[in-house]
Amino acid sequence: MSTVWFTDFSASPEMNLLQKLRVLLREAGLPKIFKAGQLVAIKLHFGELGNLAYLRPNYVRVAVDELKNLGAKPFLTDANTLYVGTRSNAVDHLLTAAQNGFVWEVVGAPVIIADGLRGTDEVEIPVDGEYVKRAKIGAAVALADALLVMTHFKGHEQVGFGGALKNLGMGSASRAGKLHQHSTSKPRNLADRCTACGVCARFCPAGAITVIDHALTDYERCLGCGQCVAMCTFGAMVPGDEASVDLLAKKIAEYAKAALNGRPALFVSFIQQVSPDCDCWGMNRPPVAPDIGILASTDPVAIDQAAMDLVLKAVGHDPFRRAHPQARWEEQLAHAERIGLGSRKYELRPILTGLDRKSS
Ligand code: SF4
Ligand code: SF4
Repeated sequence: MSTVWFTDFSASPEMNLLQKLRVLLREAGLPKIFKAGQLVAIKLHFGELGNLAYLRPNYVRVAVDELKNLGAKPFLTDANTLYVGTRSNAVDHLLTAAQNGFVWEVVGAPVIIADGLRGTDEVEIPVDGEYVKRAKIGAAVALADALLVMTHFKGHEQVGFGGALKNLGMGSASRAGKLHQHSTSKPRNLADRCTACGVCARFCPAGAITVIDHALTDYERCLGCGQCVAMCTFGAMVPGDEASVDLLAKKIAEYAKAALNGRPALFVSFIQQVSPDCDCWGMNRPPVAPDIGILASTDPVAIDQAAMDLVLKAVGHDPFRRAHPQARWEEQLAHAERIGLGSRKYELRPILTGLDRKSS
């Protein structure tokens, strides 16, 4: 059984949230996991421009300071996106990160785009997966000595939720790696719901959609990126059949295993502003769950399961299934456990908070 450390969002003048995060990181073992001299990749999602649900850089600064105090050399990283947006090459990506607050003055560490200028700087990592044999991982993630994976826990339009596994598995993949994962998950159009508004066609990065009476997808061109699903406000563009979405979820788990590649790692997840969709979209819909707390664990499966359980308990229904009925989020967790990435059984251990503990 894995341990998942937890703190809620209550705060006091003596113990604000940044101080609580510091305590959480120490309790979860950060000083033992990371060593002086290590190049530590802090894997993040910098948020698409216009999205305001992504992880605050202020939290990241706490982790950077803790790592620097150990003598480690942290840097912030994410890989480029498959779809056309504000993060599909390193120049746009760095500008977006800066506009969203990930600048030296705030975070105290450099930002390195994991797969380089055009998303081609990758390292192929062998993995004994059922669907992935060689994963294409962004070089800066692949070549780091250790990983600190900081995740905004939220929903996801194709696989139901975006947690630590997705941040690491999909987020660390080079553009070719992302294409490999997405290629079998191609959305369908529900003609009876389609208003022929054309929004999906306008945002499709592959020019794969033609709208006449309703949207028609050219599956030869479609990348499976899911952008059209997120853009359609009529529910007329839905993820592919369950088998193809499940396959995407399983590939994400296998890519996460490859990205981890047996290295020291700590996972930190924030259940805050839980939007129903990924932070890849240049907007965020209202939260579907209350702000619950921050989790930390060395087990990426346990931390995702714990985050999901906390959300389900707090909300009283499954907000992710309600937002994306086709997405079976259990698949990602079940497969990750099956391939030995971690355990869905965990002990939730609250850290001591309030006046009885202060960070030094
Ligand atoms: S965005 Fe939705 S409603 Fe509009 S054309 Fe595309 S599928 Fe149809
Ligand atoms: S049709 Fe949809 S999933 Fe396919 S490339 Fe276009 S936006 Fe992406």
